Amino acid sequence: MNLESSVQRLDTLRRDLEAHRAAGIPKTGKCTPWREIAKSYPGVPAGTLCAVSNGREPHKASIRAALGLPAYAPAPVCPRHGVVHVSRRCPPDGAKPHPKRRNWKGLVLTLAGVIANQKG
Ligand SMILES: [Zn+2]
Repeated sequence: MNLESSVQRLDTLRRDLEAHRAAGIPKTGKCTPWREIAKSYPGVPAGTLCAVSNGREPHKASIRAALGLPAYAPAPVCPRHGVVHVSRRCPPDGAKPHPKRRNWKGLVLTLAGVIANQKG
């Protein structure tokens, strides 16, 4: 796999690490040591690989790049809601449900039917 150009997801990376680890050392039946796996990820310490495999998410940009993970960039937090919105605008406050639309066409058809069926 070309680690330089690919951006992958953390769970994909964990699966790769687990596969590496499960491959083990031939004949001994032991797991592949992290130091051995780390050779495939230049710039990433063995302990970091172990931590990532155990659920830790790397935050250091150089480590993320070496693992082929997307980089983090600081994002502004909404001053009103205190969170990062994915959309450009804030969601409406206390979002009111839309007023029910009146079915004018249906009403006209019903009235037309009533009138047309009138006797006399
Ligand atoms: Zn907001």
